[in-house]
Amino acid sequence: MDIRADLHLHTKHSDGFLSPAELLQRAKAVGLSIISVVDHDTVAGIDECTVIGAELGIEVIPGVEMSTVVADREVHILGYFVDRTNTTLLEYLQFFRMERLRRAERIVEKLNNIKIPLTIKSVLDRAGKGSVGRPHIASALVDEGLIGDYHEAFDRYIGVGRPAYERKFQLAPLDAIKLISSSGGLSFLAHPGRSTPESAVTELIKAGLDGIEVVHPSHSPELTTHYKAVVNEYYLLESGGSDFHGGKRNDDAALGSFYVDDERVHAMKRRLFTTRSSQ
Ligand code: AMP
Ligand code: FE
Ligand code: FE
Ligand code: ZN
Repeated sequence: MDIRADLHLHTKHSDGFLSPAELLQRAKAVGLSIISVVDHDTVAGIDECTVIGAELGIEVIPGVEMSTVVADREVHILGYFVDRTNTTLLEYLQFFRMERLRRAERIVEKLNNIKIPLTIKSVLDRAGKGSVGRPHIASALVDEGLIGDYHEAFDRYIGVGRPAYERKFQLAPLDAIKLISSSGGLSFLAHPGRSTPESAVTELIKAGLDGIEVVHPSHSPELTTHYKAVVNEYYLLESGGSDFHGGKRNDDAALGSFYVDDERVHAMKRRLFTTRSSQ
């Protein structure tokens, strides 16, 4: 049977709805053999995923998804095979999570100013100890009966340009790439089709990006073909996955439907082997 690798999954440690155990069970059920958990701005779920993965016969590649900004647009950078004990990386991620918390407080304040009585407690109850983000705010709004639907929360209040929108701390993608490479990982541009200007893609490639996430639910067949061509043109690595979060997202169908084959993972490991041997 072909070996399927979904290199873009989230857990409760950021804005996913499932615990590592629940996620791994689901991954097993849909026939995935290799996964990467890339929670936003945290590596806290990886150890648990790795242990459970070993029991289920699923290889877990350590990862992280970092938010950066180019020309007012959000660009996500994935770090694969990062050393999750690297102090510089951990310090940065902790700083970023603190900034996320302050931002969530500002969003709640803006909501209150427009007479939507959401409390920060209700948001934090949903985020637990993980990275707090707008998905937790959207869920809290739904659960408190303050809005009808998860996506409507973004469309009416917390999406870009809406009345309660607040930006995150702005990290430049180049700094994310440097941070990932200094912690021994490989950097990939996440879902470039969603919001990355083409000029930024080439700039990041010149700056040392290792690869591009070619397979993603937001990519049309044309975009997938386009990014495959970019990968070939610049001798980059290729990744892909479902960006599955579970729960209110209604993205269940994505899990098991967006993946790459194990040859992509082998290519990543070869690159790691050669860069680490030459250091
Ligand atoms: P944050 O990192 O807190 O800015 O939250 C970003 C997350 O919110 C991403 O994982 C997106 O998938 C989700 N998101 C952003 N915009 C929307 C939208 N319009 N509808 C649903 N989810 C969204
Ligand atoms: Fe997310
Ligand atoms: Fe993303
Ligand atoms: Zn993601």
